[in-house]
Amino acid sequence: AEMKPVNIHEGIDSTLLILQHRLKAKPESPAIKLVKEYSNLPLVECYAGPLNQVFMNVLSNAIDALEDYRESQSNLDTDQITICTALGELEGNIKSVVIRIKDNGPGIPEALKARICDPFFTTKPVGKGTGLGLSISYQIVVDKHGGVFKCDSQPGLGTEFWIEIPIRQISK
Ligand code: ADP
Ligand code: MG
Repeated sequence: AEMKPVNIHEGIDSTLLILQHRLKAKPESPAIKLVKEYSNLPLVECYAGPLNQVFMNVLSNAIDALEDYRESQSNLDTDQITICTALGELEGNIKSVVIRIKDNGPGIPEALKARICDPFFTTKPVGKGTGLGLSISYQIVVDKHGGVFKCDSQPGLGTEFWIEIPIRQISK
């Protein structure tokens, strides 16, 4: 596959469309509230398919986390996923786009944080998680695009994934 100019918001929105059934209210669970804070972004020269896979992996993890949390607690705030986009800057004055995907789920225990991007690391039951989503996402963002992929999580408050992609000069 080749790099091509991509509208990041279209990529996120088409991923959300695929996941929309999981955000809706069900007999056993309330809806997940989706908050989009999109900034004005230029087209970004990138690998569209793989980048959409990153959005899919991170968003489906957020939904998994919220579902499991809801099962184990009561009287929680409304389940919420917030997606923010902004312009950023990488080392060496390289302009970038930053996509932050945040949930108000259980968070990630301090002792596990360093391992979540390891291949096959999962805390999900057998058959539910392969433990590959984040390691593949890391590869796609960091190795394939020269970007930044990191996680900030506060146990009990939630988790935020930071996806940053350099904006390459688009010729023609
Ligand atoms: P899988 O989803 O198959 O378990 P991933 O690589 O996608 O594998 O994620 C690895 C682990 O990281 C998950 O099993 C979970 O423990 C943790 N994790 C990822 N995203 C979140 C999140 N939003 N909230 C809490 N834990 C998370
Ligand atoms: Mg996953």
